[in-house]
Amino acid sequence: MMTTMTIEMMKNKTEMIPEEFQSLVEAAWKTRENAYAPYSHFKVGAAVETPDGEIYTGCNIENVSYGLTNCAERTAIFQAVAHGKTCFTRLAVCADTPEPVIPCGACLQVIREFGAQSKILLVTKDGRWKQLTLQELLPYSFQDFPQEEE
Ligand SMILES: [Zn+2]
Repeated sequence: MMTTMTIEMMKNKTEMIPEEFQSLVEAAWKTRENAYAPYSHFKVGAAVETPDGEIYTGCNIENVSYGLTNCAERTAIFQAVAHGKTCFTRLAVCADTPEPVIPCGACLQVIREFGAQSKILLVTKDGRWKQLTLQELLPYSFQDFPQEEE
């Protein structure tokens, strides 16, 4: 019988990352190496998978003005859209943090636009991971403009 403690310990192992996310996580880590983070030194990698099995990756890209920084998640999603893919089914986000890093509000709203039903996996360098849905991360979101009454 598995105790809660045992399950927590297993989650710390890299090999326990769900099979369907293996190549996505690998691609995210590889792209993280290209992160442009001279100001925060906080590097993040992300990857999305489209329904046809294609993978698009992204890293965070900072700017000296700070406010123009683009997160890894949005870079990956925008890569997919730039290739004509406006829907993704899986998203992996990888960072060297003690706990899995949660996408920021801006990224969650962009995830809502292109991957509202996607499976989201957040992974740390030592293999800790957390799988969440957008509904859990952003239960309320801006969905559409109000319709004008005739
Ligand atoms: Zn973000």
